[in-house]
Amino acid sequence: MAYLNHITEAIGNTPLVKLNNVTEGIKGTVLAKVEYANPGNSVKDRMAIRMIEDAEKAGILKPGGTIIEGTSGNTGMGLALVAIAKGYKCIFTLSDKQSKEKMDVLRALGAEVVVCPTNVAPDHPDSYYSVAKRLNEEIPNSFYPNQYDNMSNTAAHYETTGPEIWEQTEGKITHWAAGVGTGGTISGVSKYLKEQNPNIVTVGIDTYGSVFKKYKETGIFDENEIYAYATEGIGEDILPKNVDFDLIDTFIKVTDKDGAVMTRRLAREEGLFVGWSSGSAVYGALEYAKEHLKEGDVMVVLLPDHGTRYLGKVYNDDWMRQQGYID
Ligand code: PMP
Repeated sequence: MAYLNHITEAIGNTPLVKLNNVTEGIKGTVLAKVEYANPGNSVKDRMAIRMIEDAEKAGILKPGGTIIEGTSGNTGMGLALVAIAKGYKCIFTLSDKQSKEKMDVLRALGAEVVVCPTNVAPDHPDSYYSVAKRLNEEIPNSFYPNQYDNMSNTAAHYETTGPEIWEQTEGKITHWAAGVGTGGTISGVSKYLKEQNPNIVTVGIDTYGSVFKKYKETGIFDENEIYAYATEGIGEDILPKNVDFDLIDTFIKVTDKDGAVMTRRLAREEGLFVGWSSGSAVYGALEYAKEHLKEGDVMVVLLPDHGTRYLGKVYNDDWMRQQGYID
């Protein structure tokens, strides 16, 4: 019989789908790696299982333990699925700008959710980073994966996402683009692809209000670059260890509005019901493609998660109008 022993065995091997309509006027082929096809509906399942299995092997996570993480929701979903498979408890700290849908999904999978303020510095005791760290110190037999600095994150993409893209494109890929949050996706995939063909160009998608682009271009961590923005999952006010700036050739910043509008176009024009950062990734990738892609080039852009989590925002006309994103 063709069955899996647990839903977590369905992680990975996601489809690569050609973009046909939003790419008008662009030379070459643009293909989307559709990560909502993972069982937790996001790319983060891949690193969640890897962080847990590496911690088990290292003896850091023992039977009956509690997993505590600061997560924007998708990592939590992946960790929660793996925790169910392996019998662990989960507590997640989220910032209050995250959508209610994301928090409800985590609670539905039996996790405890702690909501923390968005507009405090990362080292403030109430930030979701600090609260996760404190709970880890207080709760016995708990494990704090710390997806930002845990290199199992990059390793998951080096071992799964990268080889999948290389095989699916039969080695014809010339450009690779992805949003950068923890950096695990872009760094792991870029490392694998550049080992196969060092000429492959890597484009990192950043947000306004994030430090990455400026840091890449000047080597300066400029606090003036940091301000509040709305896109979820990409851009940071810290430099996570998983962002390998040497592997990212260039960064493109995308506004909240441009990302949101492209997200809706992906749903209506491509049938890809994806999350906000997918719109940002495609918008940024196409900005680059317009200038640099030639006939015969193959660009792959990664779409991190599913649209259901954004029904109250990007897919809600009233909300879009209130933001001034549509007329
Ligand atoms: N988009 C979404 C919706 C995410 O949850 C994340 C993870 N933070 C990303 C993009 C960025 O992926 P990574 O953390 O691997 O850089």
